[in-house]
Amino acid sequence: MTQRVPFIRPKMPNANQLAADFESIAAANWFSNFGPQERAFRNGIAGFIGGSPGVVTVSNATVGLMTALAALLPRGEGADSIATASFTFAAGAQAAVWHGYRPSWIDIDPVTLQPSLDSFRELADADDAIKAILLTNSFGIGNTEIAEWEAAAGELNIPLIIDSAPGFGSKYAPDEYLGVRGVCEVFSFHATKPFAIGEGGAIVTRDEELALRMREMTNFGFHGNPSEAVSLGINAKLQEINAAIGLRQLSRFEQVLHERQELLRRYEASFAGTPYGLVPGTVESSGGFAPVVVDARIDRDHVLRVLDAHGIDARSYYSPPVHQHQFFAPFAPLERLAHTDNLSAQIISLPVLPDMSDAEFDRVIAALEAATPSMP
Ligand SMILES: *Cc1c(COP(=O)(O)O)cnc(C)c1O
Repeated sequence: MTQRVPFIRPKMPNANQLAADFESIAAANWFSNFGPQERAFRNGIAGFIGGSPGVVTVSNATVGLMTALAALLPRGEGADSIATASFTFAAGAQAAVWHGYRPSWIDIDPVTLQPSLDSFRELADADDAIKAILLTNSFGIGNTEIAEWEAAAGELNIPLIIDSAPGFGSKYAPDEYLGVRGVCEVFSFHATKPFAIGEGGAIVTRDEELALRMREMTNFGFHGNPSEAVSLGINAKLQEINAAIGLRQLSRFEQVLHERQELLRRYEASFAGTPYGLVPGTVESSGGFAPVVVDARIDRDHVLRVLDAHGIDARSYYSPPVHQHQFFAPFAPLERLAHTDNLSAQIISLPVLPDMSDAEFDRVIAALEAATPSMP
């Protein structure tokens, strides 16, 4: 039987490299708590993004978002809100609720599928308790209106926090990687992301003082020696072994990005003249997978079923959108999120694998053709 094409197949360092890293960690007798691997990885992230930003490594992006919110806002009491998109992964809205805020939902732009500025402006008129914007770079694609979002937050005098979780390696512009916009940006290095170390992430900011404060918060709020808690804190530290994996991944990341973007361009070319379209900006992104909008006249769920029957592991991110999840039912949107509701029913996600063979890629395209009814 032919093997299935998986949705994600992280390319990790090989066992010999990992053994060597673990030997040096054991020799240093330093397994966590900002050891030499973490420091080198932190500097490596700053070097990759450029412009010497402050970098706080974290054990995952969700706790990174929680740390950023807690560093910038007093704990909420349920009445105040954080404006955020529903068409994304649930972690951002969870972090808002965790810190005592209700999510106030921004609809998406129907063409870019990114949070819509017009929708945000309407929301800001209707909800006068918005205390921050948590902007998602959806699918890790850099928002081309990022300067306008910064201005919108500035006008309201509220912080702009950016959930760039799947976007490490994506760009806002040809010479600007994601990382230093808004007050801070949060990345995930989870095994399923384009830059994968297992569990891990980073908060990146131009504000060096904020970076120091957030680093202390990830370490129980400790400051000084002997350690004394001086702020709200949590344990969000990145382990040395994950940092070592991160250093290995960084050393070949440019090559990996190049290969991913090659695959995304092939998807784009194969979709010409079909009822499928890549989400705008995907080809310039780090592309953990290919988000594809299916023509509204086609039954998206049928397409997913045929892909599955052909041995292709596809997904439908982000469907259902977060405001439709059971836990978020008490936080109903003020207005119907028309574009979020419509487009989340038209989206499929296709695999973009490191070392994806031509045979694997061709099987995805063939399965998609088999799933496509002749168009009226
Ligand atoms: C993956 C993801 C997260 C969560 O990252 P973790 O490191 O798994 O906590 C948050 N936001 C978005 C948009 C994501 O895609």
